[in-house]
Amino acid sequence: MSKVLVIGAGGVSSVCVHKMAMNADIFPEIHLASRTRAKCDAIAASVMERTGQTVSTYEIDAEEVPALNRLIQEIGPKLVVNLALPYQDLPIMDACLAAGVHYLDTANYEPKDQAKFEYSWQWAYQERFKDAGLMALLGSGFDPGVTSVFAMWLKKHKLKTIRQLDILDCNGGDHGQAFATNFNPEINIREVTAPARHWEGGQFVESPALGKKVPFEFEAVGPKNMYMMYHEELESLAKFIPELERARFWMTFGDAYITHLTVLQNVGMTRIDPVLYQGKEIVPLQFLAAVLPKPETLGATTKGKTNIGDIATGEAIDGSGDKTFYIYQICDHEEAFAETGNQAISYTTGVPAMIGAALVMSGAWAGEGVFNMEQLDPDPFMDLLMTQGLPWQVKELAGPVSF
Ligand code: NDP
Repeated sequence: MSKVLVIGAGGVSSVCVHKMAMNADIFPEIHLASRTRAKCDAIAASVMERTGQTVSTYEIDAEEVPALNRLIQEIGPKLVVNLALPYQDLPIMDACLAAGVHYLDTANYEPKDQAKFEYSWQWAYQERFKDAGLMALLGSGFDPGVTSVFAMWLKKHKLKTIRQLDILDCNGGDHGQAFATNFNPEINIREVTAPARHWEGGQFVESPALGKKVPFEFEAVGPKNMYMMYHEELESLAKFIPELERARFWMTFGDAYITHLTVLQNVGMTRIDPVLYQGKEIVPLQFLAAVLPKPETLGATTKGKTNIGDIATGEAIDGSGDKTFYIYQICDHEEAFAETGNQAISYTTGVPAMIGAALVMSGAWAGEGVFNMEQLDPDPFMDLLMTQGLPWQVKELAGPVSF
C-alpha cells in the first residue's frame, strides 16, 4: 500500500506533486483531488511533461465528508496529504480516521469566521488517532515545518537548551505586481492583519499587528524591514522546548505592501465577517482574494530569493557556555520556477510537505497519534532538505540578537 492522495491543487500542491513524481521509488502511485478538477489535470499534465509520471485526478469538496470518505476508500492510500486550505483540516482528519489512513498538513486549522491560529482543535484528535493506530503529522511546510525542525536540529547537535529563539522569514522576491500575496491571499492577509503575539516568560504577549519593525541584513537578499507577528509554530515550539524564555516570529514586508494593506484595512476590505451587498452576503476578504493576482500566476515573473531561518541562543552542548547559532535556507524564485513551474514560496512549502510525506510513507517517521514536527527526529528530514532542493546552512553568531 504505497499510494498517496494529495488534496488541493494550488501552488503548494503543484510543487509537492512534482517532487513526489521525482521520487517515484517512494511515491510509485500519486492521486490528486481538489475542488476544481481542471487544476488537478493541469498539474498532472505538467508532471507528465517534466517527469513522465502519471498522476490520477479527481474532483472533491473536502468539506463533504461522506464523499471524501468514499474517495479515500476507493483509492486506498497509505497517507492523505492535505494541501487545501486550513478550513478543511478537520473534515480531512475525520475522513482519514474513518478510512484508517495517515494524515499530513502544512497549516493548522482555522475556523472561517475567526482569524484564530491554534493547535487546540487538532491536538484534540490525539486519542482518536492513537486508538486507530494512525499518525497525523501537523505543519510539514516551511514555517511551520522546517523552522521547527531547524530548532530541534540545533537542540540535538549544538545547544543543550534554547532560551531565545527568533524565526526570520524573508521573501526578497519581486513579482512586478503593485500588490499580491505569495500564497493564498485570504489566509495570508488573515495572518498578517492578526495581532502580533510572541512567547515571553511562560506566556504569550499580544501587541498590535505590524507594530514592531526591525531592519535586518539577509544573506543573498540584502537589507529588509521585518515585522514581528504571530505564527503558529510559536505554540508548538513553546510546548516542546519547555526552557524557552522568549520566542518571536518576524516576516519582511516592503513599504508598498504595507501601504496597500493599510489602505485595504482602513476601507474594510480585509473584514472576515459577511456584509450585505445587493441583497447577497459577501465576505470582503474573500472578494478581495478573488480580484487579487492568483499566487500560482506569479511564478513566471518573480525574481530574487527567499531566506528563512532560526536564530537560537542557549547553552552549548560541548559545555563551552552560551552560544548563538543562525540556521537558514536560501531559495531562488527563478530556479524554483524552472524546476516545477512555481515560485519559491510554493516551492519552500511543497518540498517539505513531500519530505514529511516521504518519511511517513517509508516509516522513517512513525507513531500513533497527532504529532508536531518538533516531536520527530530532525536528522532524516534535514538530510532530505539537502538533497531535495532546499540546502541549508548554519553559522555561529558573535552573540544573541540585539533587537
Ligand atoms: P491555494 O489557494 O493556491 O490552493 C488551495 C487549493 O485548495 C486550491 O486548489 C483550492 O481549490 C483547494 N480547495 C479549497 N477548498 C477546498 C475544498 N473545500 N475541497 C477541496 N479542495 C479545496 O493555496 P496554496 O497552495 O498557496 O496553500 C496551500 C496550503 O498551504 C494552505 O493551507 C496554506 O495555508 C499552506 N501554506 C503553508 C505554508 C507553510 O510554510 N507551512 C506556507 C504557504 C502556504 P480551488 O482551486 O477550486 O479554489
